Amino acid sequence: MSAQAEVLHNYVGGKWIPAQAKEFVDVHNPAIGSVIAKTPLSTRADLDAAVQAAAKAFPAWRDTPVVVRARSMFRFVELLERHAGDIARTVTTEHGKTIDEARGSVRRGIECVEVACGAPSLMMGYGLEQIATNVDSTVFRQPLGVVAAITPFNFPAMVPLWFLPFAVATGNCIIVKPSEQVPLSTRAMFRLLEQCDIPPGVISMVNGGREIVEGICDHPGIRAVSFVGSTPVARAVYQRGTHAGKRVQALGGAKNFVIVMPDANFEKSIEIITESFYGCAGERCLAGSVLVPVGEAHKEARDRLVEAARSLKVGDGMEAGVQMGPVISGTHRERVRSYIDKGVHEGAKLVLDGRGVKVADRDNGFFLGPTVFDEVSPKMTIGHEEIFGPVASIHGVKTLDDAIALMESHPNANATSIFTSSGKSAREFARRATASMVGVNIGVAAPMAYFPFGGSRDSFFGDLKVHGRDAFEFYTDKKVTITRWL
Ligand code: NAD
Repeated sequence: MSAQAEVLHNYVGGKWIPAQAKEFVDVHNPAIGSVIAKTPLSTRADLDAAVQAAAKAFPAWRDTPVVVRARSMFRFVELLERHAGDIARTVTTEHGKTIDEARGSVRRGIECVEVACGAPSLMMGYGLEQIATNVDSTVFRQPLGVVAAITPFNFPAMVPLWFLPFAVATGNCIIVKPSEQVPLSTRAMFRLLEQCDIPPGVISMVNGGREIVEGICDHPGIRAVSFVGSTPVARAVYQRGTHAGKRVQALGGAKNFVIVMPDANFEKSIEIITESFYGCAGERCLAGSVLVPVGEAHKEARDRLVEAARSLKVGDGMEAGVQMGPVISGTHRERVRSYIDKGVHEGAKLVLDGRGVKVADRDNGFFLGPTVFDEVSPKMTIGHEEIFGPVASIHGVKTLDDAIALMESHPNANATSIFTSSGKSAREFARRATASMVGVNIGVAAPMAYFPFGGSRDSFFGDLKVHGRDAFEFYTDKKVTITRWL
């Protein structure tokens, strides 16, 4: 551990304050392997201080006109635009993805803030006069109070922006607990938020791990919890949070199936599919994981994928021309390697092996090359577990029905894609897929900020999804007033 690495502070009550932590987690630059900061594992007392500050701020923030709250988010958009390059560099430094990928993720995050700026329109209720003689009725949406968001490592800037702007614009006070592996991007955004006329206590950042997550689920002062991460933790957060009476939306892991029909445009499709499987080093909840070529598509899809994957330039994401950065940590690299080992052991055919990749002048980086397995079956570990790394598993089938049956037999249902030139196949596929995010000739079916984002089955626990109109529903309660005009 580097002696110089800075210990991060929490942001509570409008101030940066040290956590009462006794344990710390190293934040790495995954391309170099060096420790760049230490995340304190805050205690429940730290969380409680944030909840108290938020509860104190809530009455005045709730009463602040919605247009004034939205103006804070307009200011935030302006600052994010101005500092987008710096934030993207922070994302690449602590996460490893390429700088272009980081810029793209910051752009997606900014779009969320832009949608939240529409709160005066999107938070509107509705009403009806004369529901009985001289009686009218109105529905207003009111903020819930103190809410919390718990985020994963793979999109350090974008995922916090799925929640914070919507919570703030609708009049809630929010506590963000970023992933302990990538807290620096959230900190950088909070430094911008400090300049957005947001009163102390409305936004808090509490660093930590499991203890804070469980504390958030249990704390009686928190009304709603948003979670993004792996399926086991998403399920646990949903159960614990709802048991404590909270509104919870918990987005879990994924195993995304990408179907290639024989009538696909192979040249374009495989280019898009390669980006889907290996973009962000496969550390995307919407990344392709299992390639399912149908019938005679198998050989051509496989050969083209292997060729495209082999040619990807792996390296430090900060360097020009690099197409795939490292994975998040040494531990995660070992985990992905062990999946590759298991794939070989369980009989899948390794057609491209990324285990031995080396990057010049980056001996300690957490690199892994693109990997392709053919002849994968759902019984194999790599056929059913989420790998979350640059590994493609190919499972050829005979018909579209077989492809759909294969996909539907998996408990996760986050995103899925089909590559075809047949409108009929595309429509059939989109109608029958349980996954809630479906791409037709799209490799990463990521809904824009004004649409709902989230999967189904073991990829999503809850009801209301992320961003779009669902965000305004999630962060508000509907109050009905019935008035008799005597
Ligand atoms: P993770 O589940 O390990 O961690 C997510 C958050 O939960 C972090 O803030 C972490 O501190 C906390 N946490 C970790 N273990 C915990 C435990 N035992 N108890 C309580 N809290 C705990 O996930 P990750 O590794 O940071 O992120 C990768 C996962 O997130 C993948 O499974 C990926 O598919 C998923 N993900 C899903 C979506 C989606 O939209 N569905 C988006 C991004 C990432």
